[in-house]
Amino acid sequence: MFVFVLDKNKKPLAPTHPARARKLLRTGTASVFRRFPFTIILPDTQVKDSQVSEYRLKIDPGAKVTGIAVLKSNVVVWAAELTHRGFAIRDALTTRRQVRRSRRNRQTRYRKARFNNRRRPFRWLPPSLNSRVQNILTWVRRLSRVCPIMGISQELVRFDLQKMQNSEVSGAEYQQGELAGYEVREYLLEKFNRCCVYCGATDTRLEVEHVKPRSLGGSDRVSNLAIACRPCNQAKGSQDIREFLAGKPDVLNRIFAQLKKPLADAAAVNRTRWVLFERLKATGLPVETGTGGQTKFNRIRLGLEKTHWGDAVAVGSSTPHRVIVKVVKPLIIKATGYGHRRMCNITKFGFPQVNKKGELAVRSRVKKVYGFQTGDMVKAAVPKGKNAGTHVGRVTVRKTGQFDISTSIQKLQIINHKYCTPIHRHDGYSYAT
Ligand SMILES: [Zn+2]
Repeated sequence: MFVFVLDKNKKPLAPTHPARARKLLRTGTASVFRRFPFTIILPDTQVKDSQVSEYRLKIDPGAKVTGIAVLKSNVVVWAAELTHRGFAIRDALTTRRQVRRSRRNRQTRYRKARFNNRRRPFRWLPPSLNSRVQNILTWVRRLSRVCPIMGISQELVRFDLQKMQNSEVSGAEYQQGELAGYEVREYLLEKFNRCCVYCGATDTRLEVEHVKPRSLGGSDRVSNLAIACRPCNQAKGSQDIREFLAGKPDVLNRIFAQLKKPLADAAAVNRTRWVLFERLKATGLPVETGTGGQTKFNRIRLGLEKTHWGDAVAVGSSTPHRVIVKVVKPLIIKATGYGHRRMCNITKFGFPQVNKKGELAVRSRVKKVYGFQTGDMVKAAVPKGKNAGTHVGRVTVRKTGQFDISTSIQKLQIINHKYCTPIHRHDGYSYAT
């Protein structure tokens, strides 16, 4: 992946090839500014505004993982996959609620019951969803600081219903793979659960099918389209659906009910995406939006693999016809949060956890141990013993100075602090390649 470069005033320059960055570091012209994302600083250079070309940040927001890619016209220079902690937040809030309720019922410690009497701010999002939006905004901000980003592309909706209902898609288009037709086909596959509406076949090529045939005046509107396997499609031919399913009234009723019902999209994803769109616009950068159908169409056309960052590359209509991918491994970013304020761990009943001797293990108020904090990325050079070697990973500190280190492949225990060197201080995320 390309390396981000800053000038002496910490203004972003064009990202550079890793080989050139290594050379600059070796000769002492540059020094490392940040490890994640890898950024170098040129203390003797000052950027001129005319020197910097335009970079585009592309985002494919997902419920669990968000794909991020940085493109310079048709070159993918940087990519990442950002794992959210939405479900962890939801679980933590559920646990807290249950523990408080149980305490209230047992009357061990009184905490006044709160009712649903709080006013929610405009465009309020539940904490788990809000964290996803905030994660993405954090990374947009961080990348804008190290890369001259001039525009953002975001996948906003899975299917553009407006476009599909209004544009008349002719027969040739959805068979020949034009985008509008492609979007319709993807939508229909999703709507009818990727199986033939007549016989329920799944492992076969499914075709777009007019419920009321065009020869009988049926329209191309989505409400008149279904998905059928080739044998069924041909058997039906130009018959009306009532005629074709004369002997199967239950199938006929089911299809009519399905046709009327629009696709119930994943509500969480849609809701967060609109809020994200509003907040991205507030950054002042021009935001281009695309649909999920378009993303898949572009990704297949570009021959990219189905990955989150590959999807991000294919977001929006600004996607070039060919891309050069200079990313070997995307940066794997995982949102970890900043820990909790609980002074000791609790059992599932909300009681403080004790050790075998019956002692309460109270957590220390001090977060830093020998200058390290849980979540720091460290490099540990262990000279001897079971864990001998050099390891890079996220540290979990202990008061004793014997740390744990989670690398991308293993979890090492009892590493002495004196073998550790900090490379990146805890910032709410963990990193791997
Ligand atoms: Zn069939």
